[in-house]
Amino acid sequence: MKEAKFYDKIEEKKVNCQLCPRKCIIKAGDFGNCNTRKNISGKLYSMVYGKPVAVNMDPIEKKPLYHFLPGETAYSIGTSGCNLHCLHCQNWEISQCKPSIFSLNLPPDKIIEFAKKSKCKIISYTYTEPTVFFEYMLDIAKLAKKEGIKNTIVSNGFINEEPLKELCKYLDGANIDLKSIKNEFYKDECKAWIDPVLDSLKLLKKKKIWVEVTNLLIPTLNDSEKEIKEVSNWVKDNLGISIPLHFSAFYPCYERMDLPSTPSSKVKEAREIAMDIGLKYVYSGNIMDWESNSTFCPKCKKLLIKRLGFHVVENNLDKGKCKFCKEKIDGVWS
Ligand code: SF4
Ligand code: SF4
Repeated sequence: MKEAKFYDKIEEKKVNCQLCPRKCIIKAGDFGNCNTRKNISGKLYSMVYGKPVAVNMDPIEKKPLYHFLPGETAYSIGTSGCNLHCLHCQNWEISQCKPSIFSLNLPPDKIIEFAKKSKCKIISYTYTEPTVFFEYMLDIAKLAKKEGIKNTIVSNGFINEEPLKELCKYLDGANIDLKSIKNEFYKDECKAWIDPVLDSLKLLKKKKIWVEVTNLLIPTLNDSEKEIKEVSNWVKDNLGISIPLHFSAFYPCYERMDLPSTPSSKVKEAREIAMDIGLKYVYSGNIMDWESNSTFCPKCKKLLIKRLGFHVVENNLDKGKCKFCKEKIDGVWS
């Protein structure tokens, strides 16, 4: 465990956590809402520091980050806990529990050592919600930067401005879930609210961090044509047309066994809608369709990066440009 950053001591040994918008007030002996931060005798501690429950070497395409060192492997880690409580969570066994006895013991320097040994150029903080293992992530990210390893997050974006600014000093890329454009969805489905997520996306853009956005399409909850247009327009108006948008298919899990999987046709339809609105790079996720999963040059329309599943099988980029028409393609390529 490690003393937490971003909290205030208040009366009667209570603490007020300032890491995420919940701003939990936590009594001595209690955990915060994310189940990772505990008040011990009036001080707030991260109980998951150095204790990942998932460690894997994943293709960066799995995050998904499609315009960020394609074909590279990301040393990927996550601890238990999350500050959202989505009914559709695919990782609920690790996101909705208290610190696990099944966690590993991996301090930041070990993560760097293993990432280097595995020749990973990227570390990805992922699986649950990296905000709730902020101190661990930050210490790894500082070491990674010194070693020339890039740092990426896969996040729900539900974090306060000050810690996000601190993280941005070391961050290279982010995939942020924009689960819906409706506050009611965040309230009912995730037990949260939307404004901090939108603010985080804008801040990342302002800080020039490479951002991609994922929207999970859940049948009947957020997959209407109207809502797909609203999400796409928000991305276009606030982040720009060069930000990749990933529409991903839902499958039944956790508290959402009552809904069917998203049909492939719906994901492809969403992609068409977003491209018609003017977004340059729109992708499908969780469906088998190489075409909607590949990158095409927005100018000459030729195939640039062909993906089969998470694997890059063809890459026609030359120093970040289309090798056919020389159009500059947005992303982090080296
Ligand atoms: S990070 Fe955890 S403890 Fe802190 S405010 Fe958010 S939910 Fe509460
Ligand atoms: S934010 Fe992600 S990890 Fe957290 S509960 Fe929601 S789906 Fe699960």
